[in-house]
Amino acid sequence: MAQVSPPKAAYDELPPELDDPLYLQALGQLDQVLAHADIDPGVAAKLRLPERALSISIPVRMDDGSLALFPGYRVQHSSVLGPTKGGVRYDVNVTLGECAALAMWMTWKCALLGLPYGGAKGGVRCDPRSLSPKELEGLTRRFTSELLPLIGPQKDIPAPDMATDEQTMAWMMDTYSMQVGHAVPEIVTGKPLSVGGSVLRPEATGIGVVMVAEEAVRRLGWSLEGSACVVQGYGKVGRVAAHELALRGARVVAVSDIAGGIYNEEGLDLPDVDAWRAEHGSLEGYPRARGVTNAELLELPCDLLVLAATEKQVTGENAPRLATRLVAEGANGPTTLEADEILAAREIPVLPDILTNAGGVAVSYFEWVQDIQRLFWTAEEIRHRLRDLMGDALDRVWTLSEEERLPFRGAALVTSIRQVAEALEARGIFP
Ligand code: NAD
Repeated sequence: MAQVSPPKAAYDELPPELDDPLYLQALGQLDQVLAHADIDPGVAAKLRLPERALSISIPVRMDDGSLALFPGYRVQHSSVLGPTKGGVRYDVNVTLGECAALAMWMTWKCALLGLPYGGAKGGVRCDPRSLSPKELEGLTRRFTSELLPLIGPQKDIPAPDMATDEQTMAWMMDTYSMQVGHAVPEIVTGKPLSVGGSVLRPEATGIGVVMVAEEAVRRLGWSLEGSACVVQGYGKVGRVAAHELALRGARVVAVSDIAGGIYNEEGLDLPDVDAWRAEHGSLEGYPRARGVTNAELLELPCDLLVLAATEKQVTGENAPRLATRLVAEGANGPTTLEADEILAAREIPVLPDILTNAGGVAVSYFEWVQDIQRLFWTAEEIRHRLRDLMGDALDRVWTLSEEERLPFRGAALVTSIRQVAEALEARGIFP
């Protein structure tokens, strides 16, 4: 086996651009389990840092004729297992450090599912709700062209994340294709079906969250049927998760978006909620439930709490007051390190993000494979393959958690880290 030398001292301290709360959270999770994973210290040091990062300023001609500049980033954490893969988000909080944290989690997620990918993430710091469709298109196309040195169907494949969608991916695919002179659907995933997207990709993350939750509660000795569920975040992940829970006979008692939540102890009528949201643009003012804040929503009594909004929602401050039996992380990084410890002490298990929300990247992988083959699968085939991948990953995490007495997050991380470390040792260090 190739030997990897011990780390040099140059990176004993974190590079200042990575001194970001979310990166420290990702690093803290990694550091907690590195000793347990028992891997070469040189490999461990390498995995603590991203391979590559690009920082861009994106000029956009606004509708009023002015020129605006938006900071954008793409970070590739590890390409050891294959091309890097990860979403693109538009949000006011995007930083290089945030993208680096999310890229690291993508590495673990892909490894845990056995996908031939490493992790990446990108984003633009902007308020997407204040931009017109034309401004969003200009931003997306210029961002994509600035990313050209890094992305490619065998190099790095973007996907949607917060506030980006099928349309964003279609613009990215078109911009890349125009540069190379022919259509390249496999450059992004999460595209519209008309340009090589996959059936079930839009729903995949939410479906996967509930597949994992359903199997977990079965193993914990209860069932989703009749259980009370709270879903924070009613976007691409949360809305689908809520409907999937309702399909299994669960009572979805509360959901929320950035403006706040709605709560009805009897269970919400989700199609009615969707109709209200479609008409009014948000959940605010929905008449057949009580309005609650996002802070209150997290503390409502329930059996299952699905976190599907954004990072750092369950913290040292509110974790002591959570009134749920189980937490499922649809979002990335919604539980801080301090909250993890408190929930563990309170014996509230957390189904970790790198397992629970991996359905999205799984079906992104299916989309990429279909695009490369130019051969497309049915929804039934995709759901079946997704269930197999998620079920196997949950099984590996559960078994290691029992065998090595680790919380689910620790077990998921150790499984992933060992996988990446083994590949890195086999490949060795170039040159
Ligand atoms: P989205 O933009 O479609 O939805 C986000 C939802 O959360 C919206 O309802 C928004 O109003 C709400 N929200 C945002 N900030 C909030 C806050 N501070 N408090 C309460 N609600 C808030 O995004 P999405 O794609 O559903 O992503 C949600 C999370 O899931 C993110 O952490 C993302 O990284 C993660 N994720 C998404 C995918 C995917 O396939 N879309 C895959 C894996 C993980």
